[in-house]
Amino acid sequence: MRRIAAHYLFPVAGKPLHRGVVMLNDENVIVDIGTLQNETESTEFYNGILVPGFVNAHCHLELSHLKNACTPHGGLAGFIRQMNSPARYRASAAERSAAMSAADREMQAEGIVAAGDVCNTAESFAVKQSSPVFYHSFIELAGLDESIAGEKLQSARLLAAGAHAMGLTASITPHAAYSMSEPLLAATFVVANAAGIVSVHNQEGEEEDDLFLSGSGALSELFTGSGYALPPVTGERSIYRLLPYIKPQTRTLLVHNVTTTEEDYEAATRRLPCLTWVCCPLSNLQISRRLPPVDWFYKRNAQVAIGTDSLASNSRLSIIEELKTIHKHFPQIPLHTLLQWATLNGARALDKERELGSLCTGKRPGIVLIENIDFTNMQLTSDSKVTPLTGNYGDTIIS
Ligand SMILES: [Zn+2]
Repeated sequence: MRRIAAHYLFPVAGKPLHRGVVMLNDENVIVDIGTLQNETESTEFYNGILVPGFVNAHCHLELSHLKNACTPHGGLAGFIRQMNSPARYRASAAERSAAMSAADREMQAEGIVAAGDVCNTAESFAVKQSSPVFYHSFIELAGLDESIAGEKLQSARLLAAGAHAMGLTASITPHAAYSMSEPLLAATFVVANAAGIVSVHNQEGEEEDDLFLSGSGALSELFTGSGYALPPVTGERSIYRLLPYIKPQTRTLLVHNVTTTEEDYEAATRRLPCLTWVCCPLSNLQISRRLPPVDWFYKRNAQVAIGTDSLASNSRLSIIEELKTIHKHFPQIPLHTLLQWATLNGARALDKERELGSLCTGKRPGIVLIENIDFTNMQLTSDSKVTPLTGNYGDTIIS
């Protein structure tokens, strides 16, 4: 049994508790939460705040060996061009595997207990199998050549079956509106809707909307220059190519949303009650020097979750660094809201809210200490840092 206390405890599902204390059994399951009355010898007291383990709602472990490999600020088309270059494939299998293991360890050290991880191969499965982090593997499909849509879907099915055989949670998902032929997009959504969950890159840059609005722009030039077929010009922003395919009851993660307008937001939320807007601010700044409309997501009480994206477009896999970035640009957003985005909302998006995401009796969400808090204004500082206080997460529910 452990009693862990700090200046404040943020259960996330409820109000912060001054001098809050959480009691854990030997399996790190929460058995009680309260306010510290008197410090007994068995209480561990920390100078900071206690929060549930973080959920990284969007990453790509497979790309971990590409840290610092791409030139920043080239826009979405520039990033895709670099990702498609032969340099991406230079690392050996052993180097790629070592980079994924290091990335997994980095996430653990940053207090991350669950992740929605996009994959195109089986390379990350072994790392996931031996990690205490819960991973939902999104087996991603992309391809503009409609003649090979059936072949692509079949190989994704095999990959998903391989993940399931290893005891991993996995489902097939589309990459993005701009990267898929009509037959592949339709077939992928049939499978994703049947699984009840979809994670799709959405409106990562204005080039993406340009492609559908007018068939022009940097993505159009990239695809034409590479000999790819272009997706149809619809005269609407890219999100409208996705929405009709998603069944209302499907748990949906729209990732990036940098150019999402209020009209797009309304249309999507009207259709999809289980929708999460995943923001990856550091990746967006690195690729296009832009940020998603976090301010009005907050004003509208949107269901927002936080992702790091991959090390190909980020130097860290750290949710606290993403939160600091949001705080720097949007200081009006309260710490309590940022923490909800980083924990409970991500857990809901991945269907893990019964086990993770908040400090509640019966959950095993992981306990994370954040030090160097500005207690006067109850905000993060540039020196805020994370220490995970427990090592195992998920699974056990008492109540
Ligand atoms: Zn991504």
